[in-house]
Amino acid sequence: MDDIQTEITEDCGVFGVYSKENRDVAHTVYYGLYALQHRGQESAGIAVAYADKIIYHKGMGLVADVFAQGGLDRLPEGDIAIGHVRYSTTGASQLLNAQPVVFTGKCGRMALAHNGNLVNAGQLRSYMIERNAVFQTSIDSEVMAAVINSLSDGDILKGVMRACPLFKGSYALVIMTADKLIAVRDPFGIRPLCLGTVDDDYIVASESCALDAVGAAFVRDIAPGEIVVIDCDGVHSHMMGNIPPSRMCIFEFVYFARSDSVMDGCSVYEARKEAGRLLARYCPAEADIVSGVPDSANVAARGYAEESGLPFVEALAKNRYVGRTFIQPEQGQREDSLTIKMNALRSNVEGKRVIIIDDSIVRGTTMRKIIKMLKKAGASEVHVRVCSPVIKHPCHLGIDIQTYSQLIGAYRDEDQICSCLGADSVRYLPLDKLLQSCSRAKVGFCLGCFNGEYPYPMEEGSADKSKLE
Ligand code: SF4
Repeated sequence: MDDIQTEITEDCGVFGVYSKENRDVAHTVYYGLYALQHRGQESAGIAVAYADKIIYHKGMGLVADVFAQGGLDRLPEGDIAIGHVRYSTTGASQLLNAQPVVFTGKCGRMALAHNGNLVNAGQLRSYMIERNAVFQTSIDSEVMAAVINSLSDGDILKGVMRACPLFKGSYALVIMTADKLIAVRDPFGIRPLCLGTVDDDYIVASESCALDAVGAAFVRDIAPGEIVVIDCDGVHSHMMGNIPPSRMCIFEFVYFARSDSVMDGCSVYEARKEAGRLLARYCPAEADIVSGVPDSANVAARGYAEESGLPFVEALAKNRYVGRTFIQPEQGQREDSLTIKMNALRSNVEGKRVIIIDDSIVRGTTMRKIIKMLKKAGASEVHVRVCSPVIKHPCHLGIDIQTYSQLIGAYRDEDQICSCLGADSVRYLPLDKLLQSCSRAKVGFCLGCFNGEYPYPMEEGSADKSKLE
């Protein structure tokens, strides 16, 4: 699955900077968000702490579009800024729901940006409304901001420490007050978050590729359950109580993260290449060439080619000037735009038995079209090899796989999936081999969409299990 596919979506990227020297923090966040664009393309926003105010700009669309026409230049100089790119997992795709959430509370002006999804946001929202809170948006991030504020007694760290045990779900947060930047990673560490430094500035970001983009050196990952406070005295670390064994989302390695990121001690590129090698070893096929669905499966395809001894050949050309298919949340829109995003390379596939590598298959609509495209271009056989196990369960932790009915693998075995896709064979990487490919990571993994075992119980109504029957 990749950026020209239509199958799965990431939930957001966050970025924050605390600066002692460089006053142009808005530009730093802008470049950081640019590097995190793959994590969300629906909206983007930057908030800057300016005196006791917070000045912000948010908009719908890609970072470059949102901050074109003076949007960036209108943001003031300051010491602290945070930013966000969004794909909607809760709350409609509309400007009102764009982040950062900016509000005035017990700690003065504050801003919060969130990557993840709370499974108990509905209960927390009702609880807060009963206590006279008012909400402007339908996003769980605003609920988090309200809970933190209400428990803070004017001390933001106290508010975060008290609120986090109430949050059930995935969250990587950056929070800003007039004089502090705070980074929070949920106790399971489901979403990534890392700390970097450049000159005397501190940076927090969803992925290390965003540190690289602003010239920052990677310092470390924020640990699961850690709250990092950055102020004029430097960096202070606080831990939540009762930290469970970590359960980072393994899909970060399968698909979401950029391959040049390193997360929790593991290179995404190396993990993907190793997954490709293991796939070749455990799921071989009689074929002439190996190819990847561009771009995200290309690394694994090279690993597969190396291990199998077959040549890596590009079977698909991608139109690089069309936005990522899953910019549009509506399935109908996504399918319509697919065919203008890629094409088969006839000269490379004609008369060939092709192994096409993908990182995952969710609905299967894209892969079905790819197979048809390759065969139309003359491929004599198309063998699909997938660098992760069959997705059998929805995700309610921030990824847009919400119902069993969306999943081609929820109620089919490999042979049934194969005939459904129109392939000559389909094989998936076994779960233990996927874990092996990520074995350098210093965290445990959530595997919920593969084995149904989630860090948090599925909230009633968050997945339509009846569709299984
Ligand atoms: S269920 Fe799957 S996609 Fe969701 S957090 Fe767990 S591993 Fe990631």
